[in-house]
Amino acid sequence: MKQRIALLGSTGSIGRQTLDIVQAYSEHFEIVTLTANRNWELLASQARAIEPDSVVIADKSHYNALKEALSDLPIKVYAGDDALQQVVANSQVDTVVNALVGYAGLAPTVAALEAGKKLALANKESLVVAGELVMKLAAEKRAPIVPIDSEHSAIFQCLVGETSPIHKILLTASGGPFLHTPAKELEHVTASEALRHPNWEMGAKITIDSATLLNKGFEVIEARWLFGVDAEQIEVVVHPQSVIHSMVEFADGAIKAQLGTPDMHLPIQYALTFPYRWETTQPRFNFSKCSGFSFEQPDTERFPALQLAFEALRKGGNCCCSLNAANEVAVAAFLGGRIGFRDIPRTLEYTVEKAPYIAQPTLEDYRASDAEARNLAQTFLHL
Ligand code: NDP
Repeated sequence: MKQRIALLGSTGSIGRQTLDIVQAYSEHFEIVTLTANRNWELLASQARAIEPDSVVIADKSHYNALKEALSDLPIKVYAGDDALQQVVANSQVDTVVNALVGYAGLAPTVAALEAGKKLALANKESLVVAGELVMKLAAEKRAPIVPIDSEHSAIFQCLVGETSPIHKILLTASGGPFLHTPAKELEHVTASEALRHPNWEMGAKITIDSATLLNKGFEVIEARWLFGVDAEQIEVVVHPQSVIHSMVEFADGAIKAQLGTPDMHLPIQYALTFPYRWETTQPRFNFSKCSGFSFEQPDTERFPALQLAFEALRKGGNCCCSLNAANEVAVAAFLGGRIGFRDIPRTLEYTVEKAPYIAQPTLEDYRASDAEARNLAQTFLHL
């Protein structure tokens, strides 16, 4: 029987690569739903090629255009955030691939787990904002979460077959495009420079997060919740080649690593095929062409966002939610050319400090904290 998939964010970087895999193994997968935010043209052409049961456009202003574009096909067309939550709970769906970006991914994550679906999770912000709540819900509903993020997929793969606890997670980081850029120059780097990631081709938001190293901070938070370790058990190691995707150290000192080309097709495919491995159609890593691996410590003076993420994680409560919201505001402003690169960590620090603290937030508290932190960040940046 085919695995029936709701693919949230099909027009994005992860979404498009997920479709490559689904199409390469069309005898094993069936797409039930595709979704986008505004890119109705690409969504319509994907739907025309795949003929899913339904499509959702989150931004309602594009509903009519999408509906019209698909009017000759028997595809249901929905719009709005509520529709996103409804389609994931559809009884026809086995697996939800959440490839949305940002806070918008949290509600569909919760809806998928509530419905007991298998969740292939790329949307790290779900766990950054509300990791404790999300993991508790997954356990209650016995809904498996399989990570797509390459580092977490690597850790997940290192843990297969292990019964002993994790001693330490070694989370690798490329260091981004400004790994060795002097602090003074970081004040003046532009969005187009920040968007030139040395190893990975990704959506704009995560590419900027990689440049500030907040992406690595988010991954620390994500790892804390996915693998049930403390912040102290996670060490970030800069590995500019991005071939070792992460490592796990055990009590006896053994370290297991997962390696491969810097290509998201493998972690996406593994999230869909786990516990099996299928033949890949993508290029394989070739050691004879590799001149060596190097490692260094992250520089938290030049990249304070990494440290801010560790601090928010240690403070707990709604702090990581505030951090994420401030970052979404600051990254959008940076991409729009309205603020400088170093204003991003300044905004994070200000917002997390000023945001009211809630020790045990509910989903409703997270919504309020997200809105409050966005306001604080906008005020700080005079937006
Ligand atoms: P993209 O920006 O490329 O794609 C995001 C997708 O989400 C698009 O389909 C977009 O629609 C949709 N979307 C955006 N905002 C909303 C919203 N408010 N409501 C509903 N849908 C929305 O992002 P990526 O694919 O790069 O990243 C997706 C997630 O995966 C992120 O959490 C990222 O951190 C994580 N990730 C990504 C990696 C990568 O290689 N790209 C690697 C590891 C993790 P539209 O096209 O219409 O805007």
